[in-house]
Amino acid sequence: MSEIQMNSKTVKFGGSSLADANQFRKVKAIITSDPERRYVIPSAPGKRFSDDIKITDLLYTCQRLAANGEDFSEPLEKIRSRYLEIAKDLQLSFDPTDELDRIAFRLKEGATKDFAASRGEYLNGMLLADYLGFPFVDAAEVVCFNESGVLQMPETMMAMRERLKDMPYAVIPGFYGAGPNGEIITFSRGGSDITGSLVARAVRAQIYENWTDVSGVLVADPRIVKDAAVINTITYEELRELSYMGATVLHEDAIFPVRAAGIPINIRNTNEPEAPGTLIVSGDSADSDALTGYTITGIAGKKGFCAINIQKAMMNAELGFCRKVLSVLEEMGISFEHMPSGIDTMTIILAEEYIKGREKTILSKIRKAVNPDLCEIEHGISLLAVVGRGMRRTRGTAARIFAALAHARINVKMIDQGSSELNIIIGLLDGDFEEAVRRIYDMFVNSAQLSTEPAV
Ligand code: ASP
Repeated sequence: MSEIQMNSKTVKFGGSSLADANQFRKVKAIITSDPERRYVIPSAPGKRFSDDIKITDLLYTCQRLAANGEDFSEPLEKIRSRYLEIAKDLQLSFDPTDELDRIAFRLKEGATKDFAASRGEYLNGMLLADYLGFPFVDAAEVVCFNESGVLQMPETMMAMRERLKDMPYAVIPGFYGAGPNGEIITFSRGGSDITGSLVARAVRAQIYENWTDVSGVLVADPRIVKDAAVINTITYEELRELSYMGATVLHEDAIFPVRAAGIPINIRNTNEPEAPGTLIVSGDSADSDALTGYTITGIAGKKGFCAINIQKAMMNAELGFCRKVLSVLEEMGISFEHMPSGIDTMTIILAEEYIKGREKTILSKIRKAVNPDLCEIEHGISLLAVVGRGMRRTRGTAARIFAALAHARINVKMIDQGSSELNIIIGLLDGDFEEAVRRIYDMFVNSAQLSTEPAV
């Protein structure tokens, strides 16, 4: 890999960033404004407005109809007209008509779901390559899966390095690769993020820029907290905690390839390119100390949990009590989230979806296993995670969180702080969830801003 390529930036653009010709123009302006932006990973055209349909979804529909022997001309026409419109508006020399005909033919012949879906990125990559004047590299040549559809990392790295070694610029479509016999295989939805991460690692990029339609990772869900602040630096570990608790930022599997290589990810907004976005760095990197300015980094959470409450006198003295209860869950293939306990009580918090339709069986199995005085299921529980590497060195964080909740008369059903002191997880009733997020946000973000303002 040449010196120039090693200093490159890998840039991935999501579907809304490439939804129409105007978005393509913004993308080109971003790429040409920095000569280090050399490797470009596009998604398929996404939504142009909220009721619009993503090209990927239209392709899945075509494939489903074709597989049932039904007419798929309507969704196909929608796909065709969107690509033709972009090509015409941008006055591209590349005419996508032949490729579109080939896709229609393959669909009629019984294309697989993965093949159909991958064509969204494939064709968009061709359009973007033509528009930028960059060479196009088919992801099927460089992203390798085994026969079971599992990504093969060493093979992928080797194929990418070999293919890109004399290419200072390239467009590589996201979301798909190929199996050992050349059959197209896709990642799960949102998987272009993974392709971007793989390319960044293969070319040893200095940074992986992931361009989307928000100005970074937000401290809280903007549907709950209006104008939530952007997190400027977050560690991979914090991001994992927030994503697990429902914050949607990147595809989960996109983190590992760059994290292992120490390449930071920068989430940026195509519609606001001057905004610095959010930098995702490793926890031990010096950059991770550039705090958000607040003790906490983010707040996330989810509804849809329940609690199995178990009571038994002298439970604490009964050897193997917890193990017997957990064995019941294990046998039933149920995983749990938290297990707070008292002296004669234990509670297991788990996702509702696991117990749906199986409540009676679970309770009777637990009764049989440990003969409790009481065993019941409580529904309608939310879990809220307050995440921040700043907590470790700040005293009173928990006090502030619970003061905020107490002032709002919100009852806390469970508290769990991980040993890493990276997060505090709180169990609440569903009805209190949104207010709790707002109160904690106010306590740490709004009040923090106020307190730094000079006194008048
Ligand atoms: N186009 C695919 C999807 O909609 C992959 C991606 O955008 O990352 O899921």
